[in-house]
Amino acid sequence: MFQRWILVIALVASCGHDHGPPRVRKMVEPAADAKRTALRGGGPARSPRIANYKIDARLDSARHLITATETLTWTNTGESPVETLPFHLYLNAFKNESSALMRSSGGELRMAKASDTGWGWIQLDSVMIAGVEQVSRLKFPGLPDETVSELPLAQPVIAGQTIEVSFKFTAQLPEVFARTGFKGDFNMVAQWFPKIGVRTGAAGLEQWECQPLQATTEFFADFGTYDVSLTVPNTFQVVATGVLTAATESPGGTRTFTYRAEDVHDFVWVADPFLNQKHGTAKVDDGPPVTVFVYYRGEQEAFANRHLQAAIGAVEKFSQYFGAYPWPVMSVIDPPMDAMFSAGGMEYPTLVTTAGDSVFMRPGIRVPESVTIHEVGHNWFQGILASNEVTEAWMDEGVNEWADAHVMQDLYGPRTSGVDALGFQANMTALRNAVTADPSSLPQPIATAAYAFIDQGTYGNTEYDYTMRALFTLEHDVGSTKFMAAMKAYAKQFSFKHPTGRDFWTALSQALEQDIGGFAHAAFQEIGGLRLAVRSAACRPAHGVRGVLGDGPGKKTVTETEAPDAGAWSCDVVIQNTGAVHVPVDVELRFVDESTQRLHWDGVGTWQRFPVEHSAKLASVKLDPDNKLMLQTPVEYTYRLEGDGAAALRASARIGAWTQTLLQLVGP
Ligand SMILES: [Zn+2]
Repeated sequence: MFQRWILVIALVASCGHDHGPPRVRKMVEPAADAKRTALRGGGPARSPRIANYKIDARLDSARHLITATETLTWTNTGESPVETLPFHLYLNAFKNESSALMRSSGGELRMAKASDTGWGWIQLDSVMIAGVEQVSRLKFPGLPDETVSELPLAQPVIAGQTIEVSFKFTAQLPEVFARTGFKGDFNMVAQWFPKIGVRTGAAGLEQWECQPLQATTEFFADFGTYDVSLTVPNTFQVVATGVLTAATESPGGTRTFTYRAEDVHDFVWVADPFLNQKHGTAKVDDGPPVTVFVYYRGEQEAFANRHLQAAIGAVEKFSQYFGAYPWPVMSVIDPPMDAMFSAGGMEYPTLVTTAGDSVFMRPGIRVPESVTIHEVGHNWFQGILASNEVTEAWMDEGVNEWADAHVMQDLYGPRTSGVDALGFQANMTALRNAVTADPSSLPQPIATAAYAFIDQGTYGNTEYDYTMRALFTLEHDVGSTKFMAAMKAYAKQFSFKHPTGRDFWTALSQALEQDIGGFAHAAFQEIGGLRLAVRSAACRPAHGVRGVLGDGPGKKTVTETEAPDAGAWSCDVVIQNTGAVHVPVDVELRFVDESTQRLHWDGVGTWQRFPVEHSAKLASVKLDPDNKLMLQTPVEYTYRLEGDGAAALRASARIGAWTQTLLQLVGP
């Protein structure tokens, strides 16, 4: 999901667009090889396929109501028996004000408000196991929140055993809010079906992970296969996870579209009568290309190619860095403007929604592209490397942000990754660092569960920005080539698994052949970040020693006349770091004659004194002159010595003219 700040700058008044009455759409044909496999180039299963779904759903487009049957086939791959099955019923987050989502968000998320008329819910009409109705046995352990339901089993599911559960359910979409729902004729159908939790933990001690949906928590699910048939009016375009395997006319002016997805952990779809489509191909080394689609309404046509090119570039670059994209399609939905804040900027396997279209975002201002790249990037950082977004959001959001910055620079140039327009150029990461909170000021560590953050802003600054800056700091410390290789090794080792933070640091330490546990602990488990400062910097004229020297008859007093100023300067610079993170720091001294001298502090301890002799007086002290460290704002620290008084140090942040322009555009 994307952060709030990027949506702020895309804010536009939503004006009504008259699309005319819906028309019967041209029938879509499945791709020629779609029936064969939902994996690009075929091949064996990539994941353990623990949770597999077969769903048959029908959309009542006037009421935004879905009636469906679902068969879940789930295998106990743990060693302990299972006596209860927990299911996410995410749509109940929109049922009333008592849900954990509504309580934790206050009905507001990412610039959008929940509708007070368009409530959403999901009702289980039937739950059958081995032909026996179970619906009356369902429990809601988190009442009044109803987003998790538990089913106590008459017979436990023992290790290695597979169970089949058949549901009939009715799902009412909310008016779009917090990633799902309808707006006008646009239906974003996400988190819409009963979905089983994930068992985690050591063999024999497995526990269910199935948390209620809250404002900042996202998702966690097992990999599997999805065979889903969707029946909608023949005036609607459907876009869904996976590949289209069949499209048929159905009674009553409807059509049924059947999709198959393999080795994914979610399934979403969009139904809308007014979507247009553009497509292209992304070349991936190890096999056939990926077909990349962008779906958009006519009034957003100007942005379609930008999103398409960004998505193609992202699929290609992420494949190079973190392993080949495994599916044959990637669909990018550009939601209608009035659904953008709630439905836009969200990631699902093989299907993402983007955002950022606005009159301000003229070509060269790469905010729309950055949203697309972020969401496509999530197909690796959480789609393939399926970490737990509820408890370790940094593993997808923050790691993805770090990866996005690399991809943006590769695609658009290091100096122009954020802006290249109107004669201005700027790097996207530098722009972001200039407008987001100083990590050293954040009150909670990165290693905090998403639901435990004090507010949405702290969650965003910590999990997205601080994580990205910490990873860049580490990367610059160990060297980029080595770090990228280590990240690739991590991605390879944990593809189609559920890596934890511990797995991440262990994999990186192994690949880098150095223990980075100290950095990981300080940057991710503690608060305080990096708090570098020049404690003092002062110079005095250098001269021979004055005073009483020697003893006995040879004792003499050396005066200023006998030890005159030598024309050089004796300077003393003290650097301190009162933060938790200690990393090596370069220091650049600039003297009044414009000469410079480099110093290096290994970062050990909380302060370091540098005595320096130089022919000219010190003018300024610059910490981290090569911008290797990103953990502190300002990114560039220059301390100027003012006048003769060395005590007056002035820190200046270099914020480019473009950042200021952008800030004016955004407002506070
Ligand atoms: Zn995200």
